Amino acid sequence: MIYLDHSATSPVDPEVFEAMKPYFIDSFGNASTLYSLGREGKNAMEAAREQVASIIGAETKEIIFTSGGTESDNIAIKGTAYKFKNKGNHIITSTIEHPAVYETCKYLEKNGFEVTYLPVYNDGIVKVSDLKEAITDKTILITIMHANNEIGTIQPIAEIGAIAREKGIYFHTDAVQTVGKIPVDVKEMNVDMLSLSSHKLYGPKGVGALYIRKGVRVEPIIHGGGHERGIRPGTENIPGIVGLGKACSIAKENLVRDAQKLTSLRDKLIDSVLEQVEDSYLNGHRTKRLPNNANFRFTAIEGESLILTLDSKGIASSTGSACSSTKLEPSHVLMAIGLKEVESHGSLRISLGHENTEEDINYTINAIKEVVAKLRKMSPLWCASGT
Ligand SMILES: *Cc1c(COP(=O)(O)O)cnc(C)c1O
Repeated sequence: MIYLDHSATSPVDPEVFEAMKPYFIDSFGNASTLYSLGREGKNAMEAAREQVASIIGAETKEIIFTSGGTESDNIAIKGTAYKFKNKGNHIITSTIEHPAVYETCKYLEKNGFEVTYLPVYNDGIVKVSDLKEAITDKTILITIMHANNEIGTIQPIAEIGAIAREKGIYFHTDAVQTVGKIPVDVKEMNVDMLSLSSHKLYGPKGVGALYIRKGVRVEPIIHGGGHERGIRPGTENIPGIVGLGKACSIAKENLVRDAQKLTSLRDKLIDSVLEQVEDSYLNGHRTKRLPNNANFRFTAIEGESLILTLDSKGIASSTGSACSSTKLEPSHVLMAIGLKEVESHGSLRISLGHENTEEDINYTINAIKEVVAKLRKMSPLWCASGT
C-alpha cells in the first residue's frame, strides 16, 4: 500500500515506539508520587517537555500536555473566552479552521460570544487588512490556524501576531499540521498559544501539547488534581508523552532534509497531474502551502469513486466531497475558497510523508491519470459536457 493521507494521521515511528515501551509495564509509576518509580515517570515526562519546547522555540514551563490537538484548541479558545468574558465577548477566526476550532467557536456563539470568520479568498489565505478591520474593543482572542489540513495553505501568522500583540489581544494558532514539517518558532510568530498533536508527526494518537506563553492566563475547562499547572488535570499519559517528545526530537533533527524532499515530491506530483490530466485544478495557493500537501479537483468526478478506485490500486488518499463526510455536507474549506458544490465533489487530497518515494509518486501520477479517465468514461456529467 502507498499511504498518502498523512494529514489524517501518520504511522508511529519505530524509534518512537521503542522509546515509549518501558513506560507501560516496567516504569509505570504515577508521576505525582514520591518514590523512585514515580520519579522515573516524572523525569521522562520533563525530558519530553524539553523536546516539545525545543521544536517550537519555547521554554519548558510554557508547555502543557493534553490529549491531542482538539483538546489543546478547546483549552486555548474556551479558556480565554471564560477568563476574559467580562472584558469582551468578541473572537476572530477564519472560515477554514479545523472543526476543533470551528465547532468550538460555533459553541461559544450559542453562549453569548460573537465570532468573526475572516474570509480566505481563492488562494485560501486570510488578508491582514481584513483582520485589522475586524478588531473591536471587545475582541479578546484571535485564533487562526498556521496551515490548513485540507488545502495546505500557510497563513501569515507572524504578521497577524504582531497586530494582536500591539492591540493586547491574545493570539492562538493551531499548528497541528506544521510542527515537524516547516520551521515553527513561537517567538518569531508572535503567538501567545499554539496547539500541536503527536499523531500528525509520527507519534502516538491521543496526546498533544498546548504552548501557553509565560504570563498568559486561561481558565481551565476541566477540573481535578493539579496536574499540568491546574490547566489540564488528570494523571499524565506518560508513554504517550514520551512518544510525543521523541517524535518532536526526530522531526526537529530531520526537518530541513524532509521538507526539501517532500517539497520536490509534491511539486512533481502537482506539475505532472495538472499537465497530464485534462480539466484538473489545484486547490489552494501554489507555493504558500505545506511541503507535503497537494489538493486537486477534477471536473465531472465523484471524490468517493476516486478514493475507492485508487484504494483498489493500493493508494490511500482522501476527498472533501460531501458523501465522504458524516454530515453529508461538502467541505467548508472548499466552499470558503469559492468552489461550487459540484466542483468540491471532485476533490482529492494527497498528503505525503517522509517514507514516500519517487516511485510512489510516479505510480500515483499514473494511477490518477488512469482512474480519472476511467471514471469520466462512465460519467454522464462528462459526456454531457461534450469533452
Ligand atoms: C488533526 C488536527 C487536529 C486534531 O488533532 P487531534 O490530536 O486528532 O485531536 C486539529 N487541528 C488540525 C489542523 C488537525 O489537522
